[in-house]
Amino acid sequence: MKVHPKRGALFCTVMDCGAVGKEKIRIDEEQGVMSMERTFRYRVYSQYLKERYEEKVYKIPIQLPVTCPNRDGRMGLGGCIFCGEEGAGFENLSALMPVSEQLQTNIQYIRKKYKASKFIAYFQNFTNTYLPLEKFKAHILQACHEDVVEIAISTRPDCIRDDYLAFLKEIKERHHLNISIELGLQTVNYHTLKKINRGHTLAEFVDAVLRNKKYGFETCVHLILNLPWDDRDDVIEDAKMISALGIEQVKLHSLYIRKDTMMGRMYENKEFEMTSMEEYVERVILFLEYLHPEIVIQRLIGRAPEENTLFCNWNISWWKIKDQIDAWMLERDTYQGRKFDYLNGKALRKLQQLSCSFME
Ligand code: SF4
Repeated sequence: MKVHPKRGALFCTVMDCGAVGKEKIRIDEEQGVMSMERTFRYRVYSQYLKERYEEKVYKIPIQLPVTCPNRDGRMGLGGCIFCGEEGAGFENLSALMPVSEQLQTNIQYIRKKYKASKFIAYFQNFTNTYLPLEKFKAHILQACHEDVVEIAISTRPDCIRDDYLAFLKEIKERHHLNISIELGLQTVNYHTLKKINRGHTLAEFVDAVLRNKKYGFETCVHLILNLPWDDRDDVIEDAKMISALGIEQVKLHSLYIRKDTMMGRMYENKEFEMTSMEEYVERVILFLEYLHPEIVIQRLIGRAPEENTLFCNWNISWWKIKDQIDAWMLERDTYQGRKFDYLNGKALRKLQQLSCSFME
């Protein structure tokens, strides 16, 4: 995210996860994935966007005056135990500004500064489908700007419903733009989901992903790989579940702890231990190894405001941690999908190999 020096207008450029090395990956064709040449050790989002839209695309964050059913008492109270009052959009323009104005302000600035011509309207903060359908429609229609190639909507799995998706499909066809849905999950471990007070379980997440698919939208899932109650087995299961569901994109975060949260109080009372930075790096690499090689990686580590923060990224710049991930992957000669061999009848493949070796 960057702040306009004078107007305070805000925007974020597409996250560039970086690229390392050059690998050839061969995936068993029985799993339905053809052999391919891989230029990166993981599938980089910025590269994916360039392939899709044939130029650099800029994300414009938009804030709606919405809250979250896990905060207002309908599904839960107090929200996820790590979630602060601002949700995720601490750098956005005011939610009181109409969507068209937020979009126009930032498009004008970015277009001039970067000669940009294609944009993603990103409804980022809190739960952007958690409002009556007619109001939702009115906001989304304002985002259908001629230079917007995609509308990305961040929401919760329990706020995905057919009539909202049907409207988005209509928008997609009428305005010739793509729709992507970002879903918070954080972990597939449903015991941990309970501990962090998500207010939904894995089933609602699976339902939301399948519904998005039915309407032809891509899903991006948010995961925190170092929640205190999760271990490396959970991280592997995260990757396997995301791959098995055919999810298209992933955003990874390390745990960030704010002062004004339940997790902040637990952290100050030493009720859990934070994993080391090295452990986080190991978990990211493990996750990538088990992940389907075609899934796009939007982010390997999150960023957070310094204000009101008790813990963020071990006081190390996010890009240094990303460099460490890249360096270790290169050193170990590993890559996304290296251990992706578990779908479509792994045991039967083994059985086949065994009978072939008997026949020799
Ligand atoms: S679902 Fe998102 S906005 Fe709602 S409480 Fe959890 S982190 Fe915060």
